[in-house]
Amino acid sequence: MIRKVLIANRGEIAIRIGHTLREMEIEAVAVFTDPDEHSLHVPAADAACHIESYLDAREIVRAAKEYGADAIHPGYGFLSESPSLSEECEKAGIIFIGPRPDTIRSMGDKLESKRMMKSAGVPVVPSWDGNPPASAYPVLVKAVGGGGGKGMRLVEKAEDLAEAMASASREASKAFNDSRVFVEKYIRRPRHIEFQILGDSHGNHIHVFERECSIQRRHQKIIEETPSTAMTLKLREEMGAAAVAAAKAVDYRGAGTVEFILDPIGSFYFLEMNTRLQVEHPVTEMTTGLDLVREQVLIAEGQRLSYRQADLHPVGHSMECRIYAEVPEENFRPSTGTIEIFEAPAGPGVRLDSGVGKNAVVSYHFDPLLAKLIVWASSREAAIERMKRALADFVLLGVRNNIEFLHRVISDPEFSSGKIDTGFLDRHPELFTVSTDVPVEALLVASLGGEKTVSGAHLPDVWTSGFWRNS
Ligand code: ADP
Ligand code: ADP
Ligand code: MG
Repeated sequence: MIRKVLIANRGEIAIRIGHTLREMEIEAVAVFTDPDEHSLHVPAADAACHIESYLDAREIVRAAKEYGADAIHPGYGFLSESPSLSEECEKAGIIFIGPRPDTIRSMGDKLESKRMMKSAGVPVVPSWDGNPPASAYPVLVKAVGGGGGKGMRLVEKAEDLAEAMASASREASKAFNDSRVFVEKYIRRPRHIEFQILGDSHGNHIHVFERECSIQRRHQKIIEETPSTAMTLKLREEMGAAAVAAAKAVDYRGAGTVEFILDPIGSFYFLEMNTRLQVEHPVTEMTTGLDLVREQVLIAEGQRLSYRQADLHPVGHSMECRIYAEVPEENFRPSTGTIEIFEAPAGPGVRLDSGVGKNAVVSYHFDPLLAKLIVWASSREAAIERMKRALADFVLLGVRNNIEFLHRVISDPEFSSGKIDTGFLDRHPELFTVSTDVPVEALLVASLGGEKTVSGAHLPDVWTSGFWRNS
């Protein structure tokens, strides 16, 4: 039995993990670095330990021992996909809430994972180490150790390959400390569809259905939903079986995600496997009633999955919007500042997983994800209406953010038709046009000490999103 867990993360995911631990009557220990001294995940836990870095596995394991934690939850990002934390836990006799180090290592390597999946009979996107044949173009240069959409380059012509590989390699070396890159066939107008999987330490593996994640910017998701509008019963059965085969191929333990790309004619290919809780896991929770963090804890305790594939029956439709401190109209540049007003939406079928509140300081130190707004409704149409309403109710002032942009995307007729793919935002430049009226709240915040100029094309550095109620 796990009695105390150190949460090796920050922000919304640290708080979300804490919610489940409290329900399970498990104590939570937070960790924080200097810039996070006043962050909400610190008082949310039962105890908190100052650390120098979220990326130092030894320091985190030392903190766990000092505070008497018997397990560590890595969250996502940071050390969640690095075998080091899992290894250090093993050495120290602490339970790592996640897969074994060898699984993390082989699935963190995009070439190795593809090799393993191919031999398990799972279809993979064709790829090459170096020069692909001329017929393969366009191609995508990818980082072997990549993640978060970083280190990718689209190459249309063979003559541009060498330069793209060199620049992707430099970016990968900085971001992942691994300069290796490879070349993959670029699938045009694909959908990103992934399957949640669960595996226990007794050899049971199931999938918990799909998530549609095709609305992306810079190869990173911003809106996710389940079920996917691309899904038929047959396709779900085929992709679900491939996801379970992928899980079995590595005797996966814990919660994981098998990512696929679906081409316009309905063929699907394995993209990668993420050996951790996914940012968008809440949509799966909303439609299945499972608490995936609870499942992770039970699996880590060595318990068996208490249900089989046939016992799971998702209900309704769920959608998530990622609320980022970024300016979509300015190429999604990250924004910083202090949150002056934070009025969260509520009401039937609305869930907010947030890492911030009033007075929170948003800095350049960390990923700009502030919160996730999740809705559930009986149908996709109703979920869209609910999401529109919840976004319109959301008042977040002091830091520029993407709330208004998300509202425009959700309101787009092509989005509501469900015929979406990863090129959606590129096809809709009009969604990036800001209305010229300066909203009332912007003026309010400007008077509270934000940026003073609020005229013409120069928008204040405090963007507002709750203005639909006034217009
Ligand atoms: P998800 O894959 O769960 O949909 P993202 O791709 O947005 O979510 O990644 C979640 C977080 O983890 C982001 O902060 C991202 O920058 C970070 N991340 C993902 N993969 C890696 C990686 N291989 N190395 C470092 N950070 C990563
Ligand atoms: P990361 O580890 O950064 O998440 P992925 O391999 O999962 O990298 O790819 C991220 C996104 O990039 C996908 O969701 C998809 O939109 C796009 N992508 C990746 N590979 C391909 C491909 N071969 N063809 C077209 N798009 C791709
Ligand atoms: Mg991915």
